[in-house]
Amino acid sequence: MCGMPAIQIPAKAYDFIDEAHLSGLLSGKRPDAGQIREIIAKSLAKEALSVEETAALVIADQPELVEEIFAAARQLKQQVYGNRIVLFAPLYIGNNCVNDCSYCSFKRSNKGMVRRTLSQQEVREQVVALEDKGHKRLILVFGEHRQYDPRFIADTVRTVYATRSGHGEIRRVNINAAPLDHEGYAAIREAGIGTYQIFQETYHHPTYARIHPGNTPKGDYLYRLHGLSRAFEAGLDDVGLGVLFGLYDWRFEVLGLVSHALHLQHHYQVGPHTISFPRLRPAHGVEVDSRYLVDDSDFKRIIAILRLAVPYTGLILTARENPEVRRELMAFGVSQIDAGSRIELGGYTEAGDAQVMEREQFCLGDIRSLDEVMGELMEDGYLPSFCTSCYRSGRTGEHFMEFSIPGFIKEFCTPNALLTLQEYLEDYASPETRRVGEALVVEELGRLEDGDFKETICARLADIREMKSRDCYF
Ligand code: SAM
Ligand code: SF4
Repeated sequence: MCGMPAIQIPAKAYDFIDEAHLSGLLSGKRPDAGQIREIIAKSLAKEALSVEETAALVIADQPELVEEIFAAARQLKQQVYGNRIVLFAPLYIGNNCVNDCSYCSFKRSNKGMVRRTLSQQEVREQVVALEDKGHKRLILVFGEHRQYDPRFIADTVRTVYATRSGHGEIRRVNINAAPLDHEGYAAIREAGIGTYQIFQETYHHPTYARIHPGNTPKGDYLYRLHGLSRAFEAGLDDVGLGVLFGLYDWRFEVLGLVSHALHLQHHYQVGPHTISFPRLRPAHGVEVDSRYLVDDSDFKRIIAILRLAVPYTGLILTARENPEVRRELMAFGVSQIDAGSRIELGGYTEAGDAQVMEREQFCLGDIRSLDEVMGELMEDGYLPSFCTSCYRSGRTGEHFMEFSIPGFIKEFCTPNALLTLQEYLEDYASPETRRVGEALVVEELGRLEDGDFKETICARLADIREMKSRDCYF
């Protein structure tokens, strides 16, 4: 079809996770302060780290070096990305599943789970509820089932984009679903998606085999590992990696994630747009094996090390975590969070605050409203953003540009964050959040250089306040 890139000839799928090498790195000699400082300097000089350098950060567990790694991650986040945090919400579309992942309540053997797939009308109702809260960015979540084929996913994406309520609209739809074949990705690409996320769950082969039965589609480690490579080959260039922390040694998993990011960068010249690092949560019908659960202090190390290792990749911290943990860990390099999230099917209109475990994939740690989260972020000096401008202007690889193009944040990210925040304050904020937000907008404007560009931004903000315009971006 006109304008569609031809599907590239698939690169041979091969297993690039060299388990012996990664494990060997982790049993190596602890690096000294000089080595760690050199690695940190490389990262602060805007260079991605190798797997070997990342391993050095992982095994450096001397308290003073861990503190230096935290300080560097904070510095990188502040200096390079500034104080913006992008907000989104998950929308669960269907929880039928042919797989039997030991940790997930949607697994087919969990007979006590309430199974449901939203109709397109129900999708519209959920989207209206989300828009009425102020959301502009969603991630649609699917189990793996023949019902959720690429056509169904693409139709659902179109339904979401077509649903409007007042000033509300969804401007970016990301996907978290099973890995597809090339034709499947091409079909979904046409519906205009943002990021396609596939979490490998664990990069450790024996663990992967133990928790994903071999007679299920997800039991095929290599097919999943190569899932995002096929996405690139089919013309999608925006993908998200992830590990479910708590299944195996977190130190190994961090090296797996970095190996995967470097593999994509090497073969497709684009790294992952985002990395997610969910921690295992209690779930209906699931017995959690506590051997590898990650505590809060190691979790903080994971985020800081990832920030330094893949400086051009967005980091997503989800509402699986409780508000206190989210508040503290945000500073170490997180760029996106979900807020006001409900993961029960139909949960944005049908359920109250109580979490009914037979209806949820797992138990959420943070069920505060979007407004409450916005208020806290701004109190803490963050600039919440609903910006979707790069994606809609065809500027893909936005984190890479933020990171590598001088002035990019000043020219695009901060102004667009301010415009989308102003829309939120006018259309959806509570009086208290609006008060905090108005003060923040003034403060942010005060940091901009005087001149024509600042005047243009002020004029656009005034247009939004006077209801003359919506959805304007640079
Ligand atoms: N079914 C698709 C798949 O497995 O790739 C996509 C959606 S699945 C609903 C989304 C993610 O939820 C999984 O990739 C897994 O990492 C995470 N997950 C599953 N069970 C979990 C649990 N008990 N606690 C936290 N996250 C969990
Ligand atoms: Fe199904 Fe995904 Fe849950 Fe596995 S993690 S049981 S594939 S929904």
